[in-house]
Amino acid sequence: MKTLIDNIDIMTMDENHTFYKNGCILIEGDSIVYLGDKSGLGSGTEYQSRIDGKRKLALPGFINTHTHTAMTLFRGQGSDMPLMSWLQEKIWPLEDKLKETDTYWLSLLAIAEMIRGGVTTFSDMYMFMEGTAQAVRDSGVRGILARGLQGPDDNSQKRLQETRELWQDWQDKAEGRIQVMAGPHAIYTCQPSYLLEIAELADELDIGIHIHLSETRQEVEDCYREYNKSPVRLLYDLGILDRHVLAAHCVHLSPEDIDILAEKEVAISHCPISNLKLGSGIASVGAMLEKGITLSLGTDGAASNNNLSIMKEMSMAALIHKGVKEDPTLISASKALEMATIGGASALKMEDKTGSLTAGKKADIVLIDTGSPHYHPAGDWASHLVYSGYAHDVDTVWVNGQKLMEKKQLLTIDLESVYSQVDAIYRRIMEREQPKEDNKKQ
Ligand SMILES: [Zn+2]
Repeated sequence: MKTLIDNIDIMTMDENHTFYKNGCILIEGDSIVYLGDKSGLGSGTEYQSRIDGKRKLALPGFINTHTHTAMTLFRGQGSDMPLMSWLQEKIWPLEDKLKETDTYWLSLLAIAEMIRGGVTTFSDMYMFMEGTAQAVRDSGVRGILARGLQGPDDNSQKRLQETRELWQDWQDKAEGRIQVMAGPHAIYTCQPSYLLEIAELADELDIGIHIHLSETRQEVEDCYREYNKSPVRLLYDLGILDRHVLAAHCVHLSPEDIDILAEKEVAISHCPISNLKLGSGIASVGAMLEKGITLSLGTDGAASNNNLSIMKEMSMAALIHKGVKEDPTLISASKALEMATIGGASALKMEDKTGSLTAGKKADIVLIDTGSPHYHPAGDWASHLVYSGYAHDVDTVWVNGQKLMEKKQLLTIDLESVYSQVDAIYRRIMEREQPKEDNKKQ
């Protein structure tokens, strides 16, 4: 099956940020086999379907490097609370009521939102990853899945075993769209002995590590109190950073921490909206970029955002650092776009597969509808996308050569059945959560 996207403006996000005006993209199977000027495509080239790219812009699919898809259930729960009390008083008690089968529908809801916003790959950390893996398989998106780990406690060995089973059952499955990572939640929920066990398992399975790191000032202060060093230094001294590590947040870093992250080539998932909503602070992205650290973008879970829109994240990343540092040259629009695409692929060590539109890579492609007033007059597309764009401008999405959305209609997810299943889960969990409220009403 060959599909030609014709007469299309293309932002490749390749090394040179090559842009084609009225170019074309030929998809065959799961890959891009040609991309560029129409004149370069042989005149006898055959294809089974053709899409007219008039008033559309082609981009590599966005990559969300840090989320918790099943937390769509908690969207809007415990808003306006600081991280630790939000987790301890609101989120963790609700999570105790989740069942394994719930995550399939909650993840599908998240995936539907992400596909509609042009996200083609996401990196997830949560419990009950089996349901999320099934949702990735059925929806057609690309998922990098980590079973969240904390310990040691009575269940910490079971969680490690579930990581191993996730890898056995799902690594490279669903046409190669699923990868597995090890997911130590954070240094304040994992003791050093447990972190070392996780690292050993990661090495045995040859997978990377996805962890929350230096998210709040409290995390850093508590770490100094307990270990007399920063969370980054703690991981460095334990040898955890000697492998592929994806660190989410990294808001509170010392200059030494930044040097360590650069030396160990730790990739960062910058989550500016979650950091703002939880009052965690603002990461020193400019300083990290100066040191050549790989930066990508994450939404975090829907409960702390409340969207799963990488376009919104891109805009926030490009705006907030300018204001805070009083420097409009910080995080240009094209740098923000890089973080949302090829930066995300590099952070996940998937730059050979996705993150830019290049012949030979997988066909993870997004078409943006540029027919709206906020894209006129057509000019600097990076600026338009980052400062004017909305997630709902995404028109058509392919992942691995499969079309998942066309003309803003999802093709692999039945939203009505997702809503009814999610609503049933919501009623089950929230009705038990609020008996006092009910009593008061009576
Ligand atoms: Zn998170």
